[in-house]
Amino acid sequence: MEKLAIDGGTPARRTPLAEWPIYGELELKLLKEVLESGKWGGAGAAAKAGYEPKLPLLERKFAELQNAAHAVSVVNGTVAITVALQAAGLKPGDEVIVPPYTFIATASAALAYGIIPVFADIEEHTLLIDPEKVEERITPKTKAIIAVHLAGAPANMTRLGQIAAKHGLKLIEDAAQAVGASWEGKGVGAIGDLGTFSLQSSKNLNAGEGGIVTTNNREYWENAWSICNVGRIPSGGWYQHERFGQNYRMTEFQAAIALAQMTRLEEQMARRERNAKLLTELLADVEGIRLLEDDPRITRHAYHLYMFKLERSFAERVDKADFARKAAAEGVPISTGYIPLNRNVSIVETTKMWTGEERVYECPVCERICEKEALWLTQNVLLSDEAAVRETAHALRKVAESY
Ligand SMILES: *Cc1c(COP(=O)(O)O)cnc(C)c1O
Repeated sequence: MEKLAIDGGTPARRTPLAEWPIYGELELKLLKEVLESGKWGGAGAAAKAGYEPKLPLLERKFAELQNAAHAVSVVNGTVAITVALQAAGLKPGDEVIVPPYTFIATASAALAYGIIPVFADIEEHTLLIDPEKVEERITPKTKAIIAVHLAGAPANMTRLGQIAAKHGLKLIEDAAQAVGASWEGKGVGAIGDLGTFSLQSSKNLNAGEGGIVTTNNREYWENAWSICNVGRIPSGGWYQHERFGQNYRMTEFQAAIALAQMTRLEEQMARRERNAKLLTELLADVEGIRLLEDDPRITRHAYHLYMFKLERSFAERVDKADFARKAAAEGVPISTGYIPLNRNVSIVETTKMWTGEERVYECPVCERICEKEALWLTQNVLLSDEAAVRETAHALRKVAESY
């Protein structure tokens, strides 16, 4: 057995990992164009002659990328979720079914508008919302489901679509981690009623901060646009506020960076896919490691992260935080991942503030996986050269064998 780096051995990963963000001359050029145009924001000031505003261009290109008819740019991916729920017609007091294994924004964005998140457990083999657990959470107050395409893997949109249709619920896709992903050939964010994306620094398409709402429904698009533009309507006057809205606009600077980053997306996606496939091959027979299963209806996985699990029996005797510490010493950036949102104090307390009730939603699969099994490799690994990926896989094998 090889000596672990944590015990003074040689770290398994020596090839440098990819840096993030990745940028070049194009970002500079487009930023300069914005600066010199005089049009820095998403509304108001007119641009100098000959300047084509970048936000509408980004919205057009992004909608096209995801096969959606419409897109609205917003300040971030959290606000995008609140806006999508409002645009779909949800009201304070309504309930929305969400998975407990996701970034906190999926639930807190609902609570921001008084909409109550209700947690349906995740699938053991994908870590995504389990459609069969959704139905048992439906009450007369349920108005929507949020599918989260975690780590770039689309949730089961076919089954969720059937359940939403049967019960008259809206289906919203939190695709913050899934730019470029598709399910049965259709871009995520264009399958349900509305989709939401994040352009935050860590996400696959990075504008520093930013978000996008997508939809194929013209009425939802108008609602979303209006909510983000202080209740104005697309063809209305500056002081004509027809509905409740706020200023959720992105800047032209962010659109410039996002447009430049979009030109790098396809190459980066191909690299992520290649490296994920290699990791899957190299880790498949490591005792103690259990890989996730991708539904064959996933036509493109965005591989924002590479999530995997410790095998259940292995995880009974091996502490996953200890595994992560040993992997980190080998030079592998690894995260122990989310904690269950159904148990998060701010979610429970804010739900209580709105409903007056202490609500407990049991999600045993999520709770066990969070505590004992789930680990993630970061995107730096997925964007690296083959040598670094091979060394990463070797490091995980070395750590697993040490137990
Ligand atoms: C990042 C993220 C968000 C929030 O996006 P921000 O742009 O950071 O506000 C929402 N949902 C998921 C699943 C995310 O990963």
